[in-house]
Amino acid sequence: MTPNDNDLKYFRPRRELVELLRSKGIRDESVLQAIERIPRHRFIDPALGPYAYEDRPLPIGSEQTISQPFTVAYMTQLLDLKPGMKVLEIGTGSGYQTAVLLEMGARVYSVERIKSLYEETKERLEALGYYPERLVYGDGYKGLPAFAPYDRIIVTAAAPYVPPALVEQLAPGGKMVIPVGKGTQDMWRIIKDESGNVMTEKYEKFAFVPLKPGKA
Ligand code: SAH
Repeated sequence: MTPNDNDLKYFRPRRELVELLRSKGIRDESVLQAIERIPRHRFIDPALGPYAYEDRPLPIGSEQTISQPFTVAYMTQLLDLKPGMKVLEIGTGSGYQTAVLLEMGARVYSVERIKSLYEETKERLEALGYYPERLVYGDGYKGLPAFAPYDRIIVTAAAPYVPPALVEQLAPGGKMVIPVGKGTQDMWRIIKDESGNVMTEKYEKFAFVPLKPGKA
């Protein structure tokens, strides 16, 4: 990415956003550093630029949203990510969460069911110098068996239930973070131990757009 005036103008609001997230309880420095580096204004319509560093979700077209920064930070912190880990992301959307994972040194496979979003985001990430292992146009309910297993799985849309394929594709010792429920969701963290036993932890409430069946 080439810095330009437009980018420089956002340095300070971005730093302020990071301080806000810290005050809201985000402690993982690698998550905060990633957010401080990523130009969120480049993941949305330029007309929404003034709101890019407010802690709120924003529309990205096709009735979808880029998640609220707090939500992104909260989920990524729960994911307990280490550099080099293989991560499956369901719901590429704008690619912002993808960029956070990449900044943290993950090898990212991401699936999106809306073709236009998939195409736009592929171009955007390339233009910004972010290189996921794979961006896939497909149905996240099925996961991405071709590259399984994954050390981490993150689902950024509301799942009515935990898709069994995702649990299958989680590596032993792996963790999955997924919002589960209709209307509002509880954030779940699913942990698979080394012998393949699965345990679920439940965290705070959030509101996501739904995980829909099949490709659009
Ligand atoms: N992480 C994204 C959030 C996007 S909103 C961001 O930072 O911008 C959730 C996304 O999940 C939407 O783009 C939606 O189209 C996608 N989605 C919903 N159901 C899906 C499914 N079954 N498979 C893949 N993607 C899905």
